[in-house]
Amino acid sequence: MKPVYITTPIYYPNGRPHLGSAYTTIVADFLARLYRALGIPSRFVTGTDEHGEKLERKAREQGKTPKEFVDEMAAEFREAWKKLLVEPDRFIRTTDPDHIETVKKVLEALREGGHIYKGKYEGLYCVGCERYYSEGELVEGKCPFHLKEPEHKSIDAYFFRMSAFRDRLLEFYRGNPKFLPPGRKEEILNRVKELQDLCISRPKEQLTWGVEFPFDPEHVTYVWVDALFNYLTASNGAWPPDIQLMGKDIMWFHCVIWPSLLMATGYELPKREVVHGFINVDGSKMSKSLGNVIDPLELAEEYGADFVRYLLIAKVPFRDDGNIVRDELEKIYRELAGSIGNLANRVLRLMEGVRSTEFRRDPAVFGEIEKFRKELEKQLRELNIEKVLDIYGQGIQRIAHRLNSYINEREPWKLDGAERDEAVLNAYRGLVELMKLAAPMLVEGARKFFKVAGDGKPGETRLILYPPKSGIKSS
Ligand SMILES: [Zn+2]
Repeated sequence: MKPVYITTPIYYPNGRPHLGSAYTTIVADFLARLYRALGIPSRFVTGTDEHGEKLERKAREQGKTPKEFVDEMAAEFREAWKKLLVEPDRFIRTTDPDHIETVKKVLEALREGGHIYKGKYEGLYCVGCERYYSEGELVEGKCPFHLKEPEHKSIDAYFFRMSAFRDRLLEFYRGNPKFLPPGRKEEILNRVKELQDLCISRPKEQLTWGVEFPFDPEHVTYVWVDALFNYLTASNGAWPPDIQLMGKDIMWFHCVIWPSLLMATGYELPKREVVHGFINVDGSKMSKSLGNVIDPLELAEEYGADFVRYLLIAKVPFRDDGNIVRDELEKIYRELAGSIGNLANRVLRLMEGVRSTEFRRDPAVFGEIEKFRKELEKQLRELNIEKVLDIYGQGIQRIAHRLNSYINEREPWKLDGAERDEAVLNAYRGLVELMKLAAPMLVEGARKFFKVAGDGKPGETRLILYPPKSGIKSS
């Protein structure tokens, strides 16, 4: 069975990962773990996009070669993901030799198929974005992301006959209604109708830090073409991608350019391009000048990686823009500690003195869990990722709540012997099931839990999963 192949965009390593890239990557890691938790194999890949003018310039500013610079930055990214308990099956770098081979193979295939030609490119180029803009895409004559006027440039270049794929693309979207992100289809379809050819090279004098054209060493591959094919390099038998996660700013590249290139080179197309919203902090876009930047690594240091994952997976809406209120962080931590943390502690303590291991499963405990697991599995198998993220956090909380009320209702401390054992064992086995379902999000907590709780009977009965923080008042 082909694993469910999950990708994140590969990141530009010109700084540490920020909250936005941490969000995409934690969600991808979570999904990969969730599939596995339900017995469905998955493959999850993330990495760094290491070529291009911008990195070359940044390296030079620091007196380093581009390779030295990206080696350092890629190491920093790996380290950051480790701290956030993100464990990709491969961390791909576009400077990896096998990836450079892929890009060359793809360029040859494009040439052999008659999909590229040489021409002159004149256009408006944003250095920050490393791409050309059409007049219509600019906002008041400026790049919408950098708010800077683009430069006029004219160069010899290779073009990909993307316009020839217009009808095939439209047909593909029609036949595969899940491919495009819901709520954003119209925007893409309207733009595809005016699809133009794509410049896929940069002359050596402009860019040296990239993949040379195998049949014309005077030209270097446009970074986006280089970057997109990382998904192919890293696929390792899992092709095609099932779930490609991204923020809305790079939707065009993934929903239009990417499938056109794959059609031209004869590869099977991905199943879903999944777009999430942006995250605001205290109601505004994060910015240094507003002083509302949240550093995911600092947050993990303060509250633990599980908390960051809980915050991003369970407390931020997936499809629409989310908002994190900094004053509420402590409250959210207490919520996590008070529900799942407290439940684990409570149930394990009740297990003290339980003699038997036999019990009848009480539907009051397992009904909810089974229902939730089935629903999750159905949505995951159908690749309804937005739905999975909509229901997951609430589902976990609901089960935790159910288990707590079960204990309150049964009051095992008032019971004796077999009756007491029965009630406690139900709560305990229910908790084991809950922790299996929560483990893709609460990676560290679940690891700690299963270390002491075992699968049959706990070895220890003391466990504090999310201890009170200094400076955080316990509620
Ligand atoms: Zn720009």
